[in-house]
Amino acid sequence: MKKLTIRDVDVKGHRVLMRVDFNVPVKDGKVGDVTRITAAIPTIKYVLEKGGSLVLMSHLGRPKGKGYEAEFSLKPVAAKLEELLGKPVKFGADCVGAETIAQAKALKAGEIMVVENTRFYKEEEGKAKLADDATDEQKKAAKAEMKAKQKELAKKLAELGDGEIYCNDAFGSAHRAHASTAVVCQFYKKNVAGFLMEKEIDYLGKALEAPEKPFVAIIGGAKISGKIDVVTSLMSKCDAILIGGGMAYTFYKAQGFKVGNSLVEDDRVEMAKDILAQAKAKGVKLMLPIDNLAADKFDAAANTKVVGENIDDGWMALDIGPKTIALYCAEIAKAKTVVWNGPMGCFEMAPFAKGTFAVCQAVADSDSVSIIGGGDSVSAVNKSGLADKMTHISTGGGASLEFLEGKQLPGVTALTDK
Ligand code: AMP
Repeated sequence: MKKLTIRDVDVKGHRVLMRVDFNVPVKDGKVGDVTRITAAIPTIKYVLEKGGSLVLMSHLGRPKGKGYEAEFSLKPVAAKLEELLGKPVKFGADCVGAETIAQAKALKAGEIMVVENTRFYKEEEGKAKLADDATDEQKKAAKAEMKAKQKELAKKLAELGDGEIYCNDAFGSAHRAHASTAVVCQFYKKNVAGFLMEKEIDYLGKALEAPEKPFVAIIGGAKISGKIDVVTSLMSKCDAILIGGGMAYTFYKAQGFKVGNSLVEDDRVEMAKDILAQAKAKGVKLMLPIDNLAADKFDAAANTKVVGENIDDGWMALDIGPKTIALYCAEIAKAKTVVWNGPMGCFEMAPFAKGTFAVCQAVADSDSVSIIGGGDSVSAVNKSGLADKMTHISTGGGASLEFLEGKQLPGVTALTDK
């Protein structure tokens, strides 16, 4: 880890401002899955035990950015944290403003507060609203104006801590250059990673920089469009890339197979052709399903049949087939490093979950460093009960994907170099 971590600074007597990813499911004021809250607890406890006080900020959901919306309040999350920590957690009813800052300043060593959703302010994301008919000049001006406003918000957020130590433990938001994840850093002397952030960067970084070989990537999910860059980037690092899920059928179309009603992105067929050609040129084993489980409708009660590489009219491929499962599992069994992002089929419906769970079992059984890259593959791993058999389960779907694409994450770049 080339960035400062919370271990590298003395938090004693400091009011540390910390960005966490408490973007958890909340329904009727009740928190559902607490994984993201518990993931931040080691850093929280560390700061409090070392004699610091803590102000935590986070986003939750996608409010409109026009002020308070009860549905997206972090208040129930603060209450859940209090329960999990077993100590009082104060709550600031806004993330900025005199009242919240006074509350923060009153914190004593070992005390903690959570402030309200940063996304109640549109400046958090800092996306300028651009009219379709705006000229390039006008668009440039609107973006510059929003950037200035974002900086103002970041400056206000910075006042929640004492200006000395900002800690980012929100890996799930690290791919966003938001006020609370990156811009705020310019107002702090030391910007450090929390333990969760450190762990994520270490595992993902090692996999990319010095993977033990064979290195196998399993890439699935609905669409090829979101995964093109990761496939292209991994091509120069992996020994094999196993493709599954809906994205496989755009590759099918690129090869001239019949796709029936399967999910296909027609505007990506040329891109898929290009990827296939690149893989061939580089000698990378880019594997596609050799058989599929097809259904006559997108429904758990659909009629199903196993088909080869051509999907009949009126049918859609919703999972990889048994021969592909065997082929992919054999490839995974040989791997020493595995990165997995995206399910092999519509695993939310039991009849189309076999491929995803078989791959999951194969990764668990393999003698590899296994990194599960967020999103749906994480929920599949959790559903399968094999989570403790994986080396690292990333808490950030989008962030881990961008990391694997080889992109710089603004939330990481903004941290202080060692
Ligand atoms: P993503 O967010 O891109 O990782 O996509 C995950 C979603 O892809 C899940 O909801 C799956 O149900 C869906 N998916 C996987 N395989 C298929 C398929 N063959 N056809 C349609 N959707 C699929």
